Amino acid sequence: MKKRVGRPGIGGQIATLVASAVTVAVLAVAGILSTYQLVDSVLLKRSSVEGTAYVFAAAVADHIEKGEIPAIQTALRAIARVPGVVSGTVYNSDGRMLSTLGQRAILESDVVSAETSFWGLLTHGTMPIAVNIIKGGSVAGKLVLVADISDLRSTFLRTMTAVVLASLAAAAVGVMSSIPLQRRIASPIHSLTAFMRQVRDTKNYKMTLEPQGSRETGLLMEGFNSLVSDIDARDQSLRTLAYNDPLTGLPNLASLQVELTERIRMLGAGGSRDIACIQFSVDGFRALSHAFGQKTGDAILLGIVNVLRNELAPADFLARTSNNGFALLVNDRGRAEATIAGVHAALFQPSAIDGSELHLSLAVGVTLLPQDTRDVGEALRFMGLAVNEAMSAGTGRTCYFTRPMIENAKREAELAQALRHAIAGNEFSVHYQPQMVAATGAIAGYEALVRWHHPVHGSIPPAVFIPIAERTGSIAAIGEWVMMQACRQARKWVTEGQPPRTVSVNVSAAQMLQSGFVRKVRDAISSSGLPAGLLCLEITESVFLGRVLAPIRSALTELRAIGVTLALDDFGTGYSSLAYLSELPFDKVKIDRSFVSRIHESPKQAELLRSIIAMAHGLGMEVIVEGAETYAEFNLLRQFKADQIQGYIVSRPLPAEEISAAGPAIEAAHARRA
Ligand code: C2E
Ligand code: MG
Ligand code: MG
Repeated sequence: MKKRVGRPGIGGQIATLVASAVTVAVLAVAGILSTYQLVDSVLLKRSSVEGTAYVFAAAVADHIEKGEIPAIQTALRAIARVPGVVSGTVYNSDGRMLSTLGQRAILESDVVSAETSFWGLLTHGTMPIAVNIIKGGSVAGKLVLVADISDLRSTFLRTMTAVVLASLAAAAVGVMSSIPLQRRIASPIHSLTAFMRQVRDTKNYKMTLEPQGSRETGLLMEGFNSLVSDIDARDQSLRTLAYNDPLTGLPNLASLQVELTERIRMLGAGGSRDIACIQFSVDGFRALSHAFGQKTGDAILLGIVNVLRNELAPADFLARTSNNGFALLVNDRGRAEATIAGVHAALFQPSAIDGSELHLSLAVGVTLLPQDTRDVGEALRFMGLAVNEAMSAGTGRTCYFTRPMIENAKREAELAQALRHAIAGNEFSVHYQPQMVAATGAIAGYEALVRWHHPVHGSIPPAVFIPIAERTGSIAAIGEWVMMQACRQARKWVTEGQPPRTVSVNVSAAQMLQSGFVRKVRDAISSSGLPAGLLCLEITESVFLGRVLAPIRSALTELRAIGVTLALDDFGTGYSSLAYLSELPFDKVKIDRSFVSRIHESPKQAELLRSIIAMAHGLGMEVIVEGAETYAEFNLLRQFKADQIQGYIVSRPLPAEEISAAGPAIEAAHARRA
């Protein structure tokens, strides 16, 4: 650290200032007065010696004229007796010295410097005075007397010594009398300095300083107090921001980490025996807040916080850990399970959010400590992996962390990366599965099913990569590509002279809710030249789950207006299948394979399927049943009046070239069996 060279403190500076000011002032005043006095005395002496000089000049004038040197000498001797005159010298008019007398020899320079300066007089201690000797109106010579002024000089020096001593005494008195003033000014500043140093060292912004000293220093201290309390307030709000979520007021991820660290440290040592770390994630939150805006998104989150808070026990710790994620620490596995069940049950009813009724659900991921880990970072990661698994499994699911999830997540991340290059790398293809008219055995259309051949991992099923593409955003590009391929292929079959058959394209939630989706469908139709009536969009039930139906309904209505057929895919796998059927403008219902595989289990299951088909017909919709694998199933579905049947019994999905060739054979085979 840079060490500051200490300048004297403010007190020392004041003392120095006072001392110098007093000394200079006293010295200056006394010095000027003494000098005046000295000059005065010198001038007085000069005029008295000058008077004497004139008298003697008159006396020696005749002697000069006559050249009477002894007489001049005698006169000079008389001068020597004059008090204060130490020597005298007479010169003739040519400047030649005629006679001199005195205690000191007169130097030529003394004569020349008869008008010598004040300081010259002081250093010599004598004063030369020259007067002209006049005879008969003209200058006959010059008389130079040298006066002794050493007494004046000593008086001056004595006075000056006294002045210096007096000024030093005055300075001392000045300094002494400035001490109270120093105290008044310097001591509040010292207190302030000490206070600031203490605040800096302790970072305690709660301290205040008692105002003291003059009005100005008092104001200064009040100013400092208010600055420090402003810093304290700002510090508090920064701390609040750093550890709390501004929307919900809940602790944030940083707080959760601190809390979890502490709970892990206490595990078994006075704390609980285990900890359940539970992560909740709002299903489809991104799509919801995109569709309805941030305000509704915020209202959803606040609603969820209320639901979670209702299930909390005092020792639980709830935090908001991400945009749509909450984490809960519970000190007991059993209680954790009850809490999760309570939350799911509370969300079973639709929630009133911002004037709309929304079906909300939470994906829940749980990791149990200490058996899964004792590391905070890992615990957060594990509950994240578990919640991802729950989201992939459907809506409103709960998953507990298991080790294979780590590998799966790595593989998923790899696949997500690979998906980004798969279109450009020509790794996708489209297979087509025939949809047969149950009554006639004619092929009514084909479902386009995407296939991915990964250069390293080989064939990867859509059930694996489509959810990844949905989560990572690649689905829009993949879906667009499939739609274009399917439309072109169907158009090609028409051009080749095949009977007009529909092509059904699967549309995923993320794809459908994207802005511009309807325009993209229109583009695919117009650029391929396929009649709009030959395109069917299969939209799976999960698209609608937890969403307000109005904007979806308007998109579907628009698509229908273009002439596109709409099928509700995987009917019966969600919670609200019937509601969607009555509220959305579908032409076709595609009953999920699970119904077909159960029809031989019990007469009730068979009856259920028959009733669903009848009900869909009652609503004026066409019914297609998927997943028929055997003739028994096929025949039963025909009996139940399913309009179309899709399944391995008709054909597996095949590449376009094979379908072109196999189409008539498939129809012929069915005709024979029928
Ligand atoms: P999906 O739309 O319900 O398609 C029917 C799935 O059932 C296909 O599986 C098909 O091969 C399979 N299937 C048909 N008949 C039978 C049968 O008799 N028995 C059995 N066990 N399975 C049968 P695939 O091709 O693996 O596709 C799975 C799902 O992936 C599709 O279900 C669909 O949701 C999705 N998918 C496929 N292609 C696309 C696509 O291009 N875009 C989107 N968004 N999703 C697609
Ligand atoms: Mg489908
Ligand atoms: Mg399906």
